[in-house]
Amino acid sequence: MMVDPKRLRDKMVREQLERRGIRDERVLNAMRILPRHLFVQDALAAKAYTDAPLPIGEGQTISQPYVVALMSEALELQPGMKVLEIGTGSGYQAAVLAEMGAEVYTVERIRKLFFAARKRFVDMRMFSVKLKLDDGTMGWKDEAPFDRIIVTAGGPEVPGPLVDQLSDDGRLIIPVGGTRRSQRLVVVTKQGGVVSESDMGGVTFVDLVGTHGWENARTGE
Ligand code: SAH
Repeated sequence: MMVDPKRLRDKMVREQLERRGIRDERVLNAMRILPRHLFVQDALAAKAYTDAPLPIGEGQTISQPYVVALMSEALELQPGMKVLEIGTGSGYQAAVLAEMGAEVYTVERIRKLFFAARKRFVDMRMFSVKLKLDDGTMGWKDEAPFDRIIVTAGGPEVPGPLVDQLSDDGRLIIPVGGTRRSQRLVVVTKQGGVVSESDMGGVTFVDLVGTHGWENARTGE
């Protein structure tokens, strides 16, 4: 990279995150530290800190930095919590959560992306993140329950198995939409066995494909 990535990250955090109201210091710190340019293809490294999602192959994208920050903050994460992510993609969101002190489990359904993310974690010596190649709409039953669940792809509904695998006092965040082009960011909470939902506003994500997601991939593969 031509420009010092640390300076680009500080600028990204100031201008894209703090300016738009992200306050969680753990989120801001993680995103100041993590080399986002190593989570995209070399040809896109120079664009890694821009205010946009970027293609990661297979028709998928790494989310815009602000969206990663917004969802990470909305999780209300405490260090040591067990977190399940559906949609590993590049691995960047999982790395942010790990850097924030969470015990991260992440599931990806596309083989190529799964292996690329796994290699990235090894190269970066981030051995604590556990990865699985599977349909994440079924959750990760052997490791349940989870304190927090984050879905980084948009589905038609909140997958039932994920709600079941959420611990009491747990929070689940997922883009849900009636169409594949736009979703609402939904926060599902469980308290005393009672499940409630709140809406954080409109977002656009790639498809959540699987048993409790959309039936077919729209692009890629
Ligand atoms: N969190 C990622 C963003 C990835 S985009 C990052 O930080 O880079 C969403 C990802 O969800 C894609 O890689 C897509 O293949 C994956 N995905 C879609 N449906 C899935 C499913 N049912 N289970 C697991 N992963 C899924």
